[in-house]
Amino acid sequence: MTVEELRDRHVQLLRDRRVVDHLDPPAHPGGDTAARYHTWTQVAAEPPSALLARLVDVRVRPAAYRPAHLREQQHTLDALQPEVLHLARTAGWETTIPVLAGVFPTGTLDALSVPVPGRGVLVLVNTSLLDLLGTVLKIMTGALPDYGAPALLSTDQATYALAEAVNAHLYGNGAVQARRLPELSGQRAALVSLMARRGTQFTLAHEVGHVLSGHLRHARRLTDPHTPVGALDAQSVGWPREHEADRVAATIMLRTLDGLGHRELEAHEPYVVGAVLLVLFLHEVTDRLADQLGLTVPFAGNHPPPVRRIQTLVEHLAGHVRTPRALDLAAEVATWLEDRLDGVREWFRLVDDSLLGGSTPGG
Ligand SMILES: [Zn+2]
Repeated sequence: MTVEELRDRHVQLLRDRRVVDHLDPPAHPGGDTAARYHTWTQVAAEPPSALLARLVDVRVRPAAYRPAHLREQQHTLDALQPEVLHLARTAGWETTIPVLAGVFPTGTLDALSVPVPGRGVLVLVNTSLLDLLGTVLKIMTGALPDYGAPALLSTDQATYALAEAVNAHLYGNGAVQARRLPELSGQRAALVSLMARRGTQFTLAHEVGHVLSGHLRHARRLTDPHTPVGALDAQSVGWPREHEADRVAATIMLRTLDGLGHRELEAHEPYVVGAVLLVLFLHEVTDRLADQLGLTVPFAGNHPPPVRRIQTLVEHLAGHVRTPRALDLAAEVATWLEDRLDGVREWFRLVDDSLLGGSTPGG
């Protein structure tokens, strides 16, 4: 009954579904060959036909899973999960059940808890959640002047980068990443890294919340055939327990601020709240776009609609944060995201037109 047994089960699942054979380091380590932007002025600066072709390509040519990509993400989860369990203990929740977060192309922005009889719980975290969250944070930080002036990205650049990230999430089967953005530096880099960690940890903490609250004992198995790797099972526990898991997760995440002085708390609390809510904002926005594009979101009915979860969680947070402006950043993030959506939809419309025209643009 150990985490190592869960790790074996995770790799076996990746292998069975033909995602990757293993997550071991490569025998011949080479550089990461994924395409990337080297400077911020290069972002979305290619001719429009080339930008469009890149979006179209994701739809018409299914990409292969890259072991290096999955390995990197598993590394991230391995680094983030122990802190979640530690914080849960600090908050008074103790679990004796081994839990392991494993990366997997599930197609949903909710993690999936898979009970492994006699061993523990395997929490499957979508490959594209980590990509989407990290990329959106980078774009936002590069585009909003609050994070440093002058902004690194124009509105048009930010809109295309966001369209590419959402396109990869919705059509890339968890294998495709948007073209990588340049590295940030200084305060921007610190904020992106903090918010990506806290957002991912919120997702893990939500699943841990189900485990800690004993929800899985009341679960019913639900199979969804529409994931990138075919039918997958998840545990369905009902909407009230989903809201409870969100509250547990929020409580766990606010524990990251314990021990800070008032001034530090004022500085940090908005980012923790912003990161937690950003995950649900992205969920809401991508569900809405998927619906408009006629795509099926796997396990969509398993949780309350994101907009309901956001409302409920905001009310809960409002009663538990310790500084008066703790929710301001989250509100700003929501507005920024919403304001980009028309532009993102316009890129998707161009892709549709191009595909209906029967030829892919050159470039
Ligand atoms: Zn849940």
